[in-house]
Amino acid sequence: MSKLIVQKYGGSSVANVKKINQVAERIVSYARKKNEIVVVVSAMGDTTNELISLAKEINPQPSEREMDMLISTGEQISSSLLAMALHKKNYDAISFTGSQVGIITDVYHTKARILNIETKRIKDELQKAKIVIIAGFQGLSTHQEITTLGRGGSDLSAVALACALGADVCEICTDVEGVYTADPRIVKEAKKISYITFDEMLELASRGAQVMHKRAVEVAKKFNIPLHVRSSFSKKEGTIIMKKTSYIEEPIVRGIAFTEDEAKITVCNLPDKPGVAALIFNELAQNRINVDMIVQNVSHRKITDISFTVPKTNLLKTIKVSKRIAERIGAEEVLIDEDVTKVSIVGVGMKSYHGVAASCFSVLAENKINIEMISTSEISISCILRKKDGKKALKALHKEFELDKIKSRS
Ligand code: ADP
Ligand code: ASP
Ligand code: MG
Repeated sequence: MSKLIVQKYGGSSVANVKKINQVAERIVSYARKKNEIVVVVSAMGDTTNELISLAKEINPQPSEREMDMLISTGEQISSSLLAMALHKKNYDAISFTGSQVGIITDVYHTKARILNIETKRIKDELQKAKIVIIAGFQGLSTHQEITTLGRGGSDLSAVALACALGADVCEICTDVEGVYTADPRIVKEAKKISYITFDEMLELASRGAQVMHKRAVEVAKKFNIPLHVRSSFSKKEGTIIMKKTSYIEEPIVRGIAFTEDEAKITVCNLPDKPGVAALIFNELAQNRINVDMIVQNVSHRKITDISFTVPKTNLLKTIKVSKRIAERIGAEEVLIDEDVTKVSIVGVGMKSYHGVAASCFSVLAENKINIEMISTSEISISCILRKKDGKKALKALHKEFELDKIKSRS
């Protein structure tokens, strides 16, 4: 029976002409079986980074509207080239921008959220037996402006389209064979995970596992759309992200995430009285800055420090806002530390297992690694460490929780 398949190909999978042709061949192998196919593509290779550097060379603080006009072009290039590659193979394909197919977003440039997708145009083209190719990462705001969805946002375009179209299958095709127990580029012993829950993937993605975009997993979870993360260039089964896995007993730790993309901010010597934290974090929220870990020191003589972490992409804005508030509340100074890393262990099995935090901290201690901040959720433990210790910690924890011993499907 024919299926409606949504496939997303990431930037490294369409980085050059040879790879675009290989991806086209892969798409053809599905089209031959009379499936209906909607393809979402990212910009070729490093295009988005190059466009951002270009903009910053011209203006270090470019307008966000113009940034969206600029960076949305990367996906337009790859989608049209992929359509041409399919034409060359005698397959009927048509490429569209996000705006053309009615991906409607809110008005927040460079981090827009999808509000609605009008599927009529896509369905009309599918009815004409065309392969529909859609530029990922972008949409049209309710003010008729071109928007982008945040870095890595093509995953989100694909999952949202799969949801709006009621697709039978949603594949995230990338440059690794699936979701691994840790980034396989850093931990050689990392193993491919066969099945992982939405909740675990969400934790891993939010804590730095770049392989899936966090908001894409959120949408998949909300609408219960299983995702298949797999290689763009091999037929091997990848990782299924789903509501519940069928393991009789869950492993304690499913995977470990690692990021160097956060910075630590400390507001020093502020008055320890009600309302101070609310003031700081309300102001940051109003500026749409996502704060991750927060630690307040023990108060000495009614004076305290608050440290928190933010994505480095929000650092300039955070410094500006923090200094303004520090001045208003009489805090002494704001310290910025970019030399940190965050390592997080994640697994639903932790819920019913004691001693996980103890093992995690002991391993770090044995390796003489100092922990600067800790945060926990029901299924994760995150530690902020010195940047130089990050990879060592990741490898040591991977070994401690025996993630190198798990068996993959294929
Ligand atoms: P794409 O361009 O296809 O969107 P990304 O670069 O965004 O691909 O994501 C794939 C990369 O994510 C891999 O090359 C890998 O280095 C990194 N990664 C980080 N953590 C993991 C993990 N746990 N499993 C697999 N890949 C991971
Ligand atoms: N091209 C965009 C980026 O590099 C979106 C994506 O790749 O998903 O962030
Ligand atoms: Mg990606």
